[in-house]
Amino acid sequence: MSPDPRTPTSPRTSGQQGVLLVVSGPSGAGKSTVCHELLRRLPDATWSVSATTRPPRGTEVDGCDYYFVSRERFDRMIQAGELCEWAEYLGNLYGTPRAPVAKALAAGQVMVMEIDVQGGRQIAEKMPDSVRVFLLPPNDEELARRLMGRQTETPEQQAGRLAKARQEIAWVREWGCYQYFIVNESVERTVQDVMRILEAERNKT
Ligand code: 5GP
Repeated sequence: MSPDPRTPTSPRTSGQQGVLLVVSGPSGAGKSTVCHELLRRLPDATWSVSATTRPPRGTEVDGCDYYFVSRERFDRMIQAGELCEWAEYLGNLYGTPRAPVAKALAAGQVMVMEIDVQGGRQIAEKMPDSVRVFLLPPNDEELARRLMGRQTETPEQQAGRLAKARQEIAWVREWGCYQYFIVNESVERTVQDVMRILEAERNKT
C-alpha cells in the first residue's frame, strides 16, 4: 500500500484565500505546544484533526485530539480518497481528512496541521502553496532529555521515538520539502516567528 497519489487543487492557484500551515518536527521539538498557542492567538485558525490507528494516550479525546479508528476503517478511508495525505509512523497509521481542509481553505481560514515529514512531503507535492514549517529541538541532548522523560510511554517506546526523531531530521534535510526551519528554543519566539511567516504569506495572496 502506498499513499494516495490523487492531487487536490492547490488552494491559492484556485483563487481560495485560506492558508494551509503544516507544522512538522521530531517528537520532542514542541510542535503541539506551538500549535496550541497559534490556535489560541489566531482567531481564524482551525485545527486539522487527524485520523489514526494509534490507541488514545492519557487524556486524549476522540474527535478532538484525533479520530481514533481501526485499521480497517483507516484502509477504507484511503480507498475512498478521504485522506489528503497519510503515513505510517512507528507502526501506526496517521492521515489528514480531506474534507475539513477544503472547507477551511474555502472559508479563508488558516488550517493548522501537525503531521510527520512523510505527510509534509506529500502536502508539498500536492499543495505547493502550503506553508511548511519544520521545528527543531535546540540540540540532540535536549531532544533526548525531552523524549526520555515522557511518563505516558515505556522506555522502549521512548527509545523508538528518539531514533525516529533523528531519522526525521535526516529525511527532511534530504527531501527539502519545508520552506522554514525554526529552532524551538522559546515557545513565545517560535509562535511569533510563525505568525510573522503567516502574515507575509497572506500578504502574498
Ligand atoms: P503522536 O502519536 O505523538 O500523536 O504522533 C506521532 C507523529 O504522527 C507526529 O510526528 C505527528 O505529527 C504525526 N501525525 C499526526 N497526525 C498526522 C497525520 O494526519 N498525518 C501524518 N502524516 N502524520 C501525522
